[in-house]
Amino acid sequence: MRDRFEPMNRHALWKDVPSVDWNSWTWQQQNRVRTVEELEKLFVLSESERSAVAATLDEFRMAITPYYASLIDPMREDCPIRMQAVPVAKEMEVLPSEYVDPLGEDPRMPVPGLIHKYPDRALLYATHHCPVYCRHCTRKRIVSNPETAPPWSQLQAAFDYIRRTPEIRDVLVSGGDPLSLSDERLEAIFRELRSIPHVEILRLSTRNLVTLPQRVTPNLVRRLRPYLPIYVQTHFNHPRECTQEAYDAAALFADAGFVINNQMVLLKDLNDRVEIVQDLNFKLLQMRIQPYYIHHCDMAQGIGHFRTKIDDGIALLEKLRGWNSGLAIPHYVVDLSPGGGKVALVPNYVEHREGGQWTFRNYRGEKYHLEEPAEASRLTPVE
Ligand code: SF4
Repeated sequence: MRDRFEPMNRHALWKDVPSVDWNSWTWQQQNRVRTVEELEKLFVLSESERSAVAATLDEFRMAITPYYASLIDPMREDCPIRMQAVPVAKEMEVLPSEYVDPLGEDPRMPVPGLIHKYPDRALLYATHHCPVYCRHCTRKRIVSNPETAPPWSQLQAAFDYIRRTPEIRDVLVSGGDPLSLSDERLEAIFRELRSIPHVEILRLSTRNLVTLPQRVTPNLVRRLRPYLPIYVQTHFNHPRECTQEAYDAAALFADAGFVINNQMVLLKDLNDRVEIVQDLNFKLLQMRIQPYYIHHCDMAQGIGHFRTKIDDGIALLEKLRGWNSGLAIPHYVVDLSPGGGKVALVPNYVEHREGGQWTFRNYRGEKYHLEEPAEASRLTPVE
C-alpha cells in the first residue's frame, strides 16, 4: 500500500539544498515564499495572481513553505495546491452575504482567545501563525496578524476560565496552526489543559501534516504523548497532498497513539468531484487518518470563488454513501453564520412515510418497504 505514496519532487530552485536543511521545519519556515518576486522564481504568474499578492499582503499575507510550493504544478493555474496557496484577484470581492467573522467567534469569547460556543467544548486560539496561509481560511480576520498573537498571560487567563467552567470537557487547541509554536510551548499548553480534571478530551488542530510535515518530529511526539488522549484534527483537501512525507508524519502520531481525523473543505473546481474525494479519503485511511468532515465552504469574506452549491455537496455525498466503505464517508456539514454551529446534511432516503409504514430508496435507487412492528419500543422522553 505504501508505494502509492510518492515522495514529493523539490522545485529546481531548492534542488541543491542539503537534506539536513530541507528536512528541518525551521529551515522550511525561514525560507517560505512571501513576495511576488520569490513567487515568480517558481512559475509564471497570471495577472490576477500578480496583482492579488501585492494587494493582500497587508490583509491576509501569503506564505508558502518550499515543501508545499514544490507540490505546485508550475504549468497549471488551476493546480489544486496553487489555488490554495497563491492569492487571486477574486479575494478582493466581498459579497453582501459574507461575514468578517462567519462562525460568530468574537462575541463568544469569555476571555480573549478562548471561544466557548458549544456547551461542552472550547477552542483555544494559541497562535496567529501558519506555515502556509490558506486562501480559503475561515479565520483570516485574525490569522497571519501578529497583533493577535496571544502572550502566555492571555493563555493563562483562558486556562483559568476553563478551570472554573466544569461543563467544558473538550478543548481544541487551534489558531493559526499550533505546531508553529515551539515544542516547549506546546508541551506547556497541553500540560496545563491535562491538569484540569474535568477536561477529558484534548484536540490539536493542525495543517502541518499537509503544509509542513517535517514539523512532526519524534521529539514533538515524545513531549505531547504524556497528555494522551489527543485527537489531531488535520485538513487535507486533495489527494496530491498525500505524499510519502505526509504519510511518515501521520505515522509518527499514529504509532504513538494519537488519533487523527481530517476536515476537508469542499472547494469549487479544486476538489468538488467525487473521484477526487474518493481518492483522498482512501489515501487518508491508508495514512490512518479518519475522514471526519466535509465542510461546506463557509461565508467568510473574499472566498466566494471557492464556494459550491449546497445541493452539489449533498449530491457528492450521495455518490459516496453506499458505494464506498462507511469508513470513507465523512459528515457533510454547514457551519451556520453567524455562530449557529454545524448542521450535518444527508441525502434524503425516505420516499414516503405513513405512520409505521416507511418506503426508502437505497443508494442504488431501489425501493424498500419497512413496516415497523406496533410493539417497537419508543425512546424514553428526555426530561
Ligand atoms: S492552516 Fe488553518 S488557520 Fe492556518 S491559514 Fe490554513 S486554514 Fe487558516
